[in-house]
Amino acid sequence: MPSRAPASNTTPASDLASHPSGGGRKVGFVSLGCPKALVDSERILTQLKVEGYDIVQTYDDADVVVVNTCGFIDSAVEESLDAIGEAMAENGKVIVTGCLGKRPEQIRETHPGVLAITGPQDYRSVMEAVHRALPPTHDPFVDLVPRRQDDNDIGVKLTPKHYAYLKISEGCNHRCSFCIIPSMRGDLVSRPIDEVLREAEKLAMGGVKELLVISQDTSAYGVDLKYAERAWRGNTYQTRMKSLCAGLSELGIWTRLHYVYPYPHVDEILPLMAERRDGVPALLPYLDIPFQHASPRVLKLMKRPGAVDKTLERIVRWRDICPDITIRSTFIVGFPGETDQEFEELLDFLDEAQLDRVGAFAYSPVDGAAANALPDPVAEEVKQERLVRFMQRQAEISEAKLADKIGSVQRCLVDLLDGELALARSMADAPEIDGLVQIQNGLEAGLRPGQFVDVEIMGSDEHDLYGEVRIER
Ligand code: SF4
Repeated sequence: MPSRAPASNTTPASDLASHPSGGGRKVGFVSLGCPKALVDSERILTQLKVEGYDIVQTYDDADVVVVNTCGFIDSAVEESLDAIGEAMAENGKVIVTGCLGKRPEQIRETHPGVLAITGPQDYRSVMEAVHRALPPTHDPFVDLVPRRQDDNDIGVKLTPKHYAYLKISEGCNHRCSFCIIPSMRGDLVSRPIDEVLREAEKLAMGGVKELLVISQDTSAYGVDLKYAERAWRGNTYQTRMKSLCAGLSELGIWTRLHYVYPYPHVDEILPLMAERRDGVPALLPYLDIPFQHASPRVLKLMKRPGAVDKTLERIVRWRDICPDITIRSTFIVGFPGETDQEFEELLDFLDEAQLDRVGAFAYSPVDGAAANALPDPVAEEVKQERLVRFMQRQAEISEAKLADKIGSVQRCLVDLLDGELALARSMADAPEIDGLVQIQNGLEAGLRPGQFVDVEIMGSDEHDLYGEVRIER
């Protein structure tokens, strides 16, 4: 479908295969935003497919276009408005959904002709808008057959067959001052644990080898349901992070946790990360845990937990329990009021914490965020200069940590073949955001996407590892 390049971590619906004929009712789909928005796209596409709509790949072929938007930072808003504009110009019948849908006035100001606007996770309203634009038709053959999905049908997936995002909750109970997600997606609403585990089981049975658990706050999972107990496979599980990890560990595939908020009870899942069952980690030794800053005062301004000494102690403890754990984090530099001294504290934290993977952003005001009202904004050139220094410092750490892996054998999951190479990921690499393991003899070894393979690591740089698989002759 559209040529638009989506924001990171998204896959354009253009990558979808064609779906069975829906009696001529054709829908185009543009998916922008984070993995959570991607899961929303998958659910809408699945429902469209269940109702017999065709998903088409060009604006010309579509009778109506759905644009799933992102509205988190200004550049994402701009990209979403551009995507809507492109769909309006190329097709003219456009339904907008997703995070930017929470600001309908902003959309209508630029694109007054859109057919309908709905917010994130509002699948029903999107379908109602599609029904209004393309009324369901009576098909005597199809309508006599109940449109029920098979128990093992995992719906439309926008990720490759061998990994899938597993969304466990919507919304967030925190109020970080730089973030508008709670105002767009509301307070935390968890999915009951049996529903999540059943979905995970179906995905595993459908060939998924790696589950990526996503939410706004994975550590808070179940708090809104008072950790309700549910049954799955004859056992009782509480709706909480620890039980979720225990349940997922039964599937015998990789499970990777994202967006873990730094609460003390994160410690409880470390033993599962250290445990191996037939060589497979019960839970991938990988924590994506956004710390955002290391100065207690800046963290307080961000309305985030500020006990940095305790954080460092806990990182040491995690590594004691699970020595091969990979810790990924994200940080904001140049937050309003951040002094030179506080920025230096952040660099010191990097030196001490020795994190494996780090992403960073220069603070940019988000329309509607409480942080906009804070005094002493940091000048743009200072923010950029701090960002460069921060990333340089971390690049040295990451490079050294990857170099330490030379000579080791890493279990990897192959993502794709690229000429002679197979591009794979180790347990330390989440798709899209981390590095790769480039297997030099992937073609010769006959590797296939979705295959697990042991790779001898022979080289590294600051992002990726390079290696070979042993070929028995
Ligand atoms: S925890 Fe994450 S989603 Fe929730 S308010 Fe903070 S930054 Fe936003």
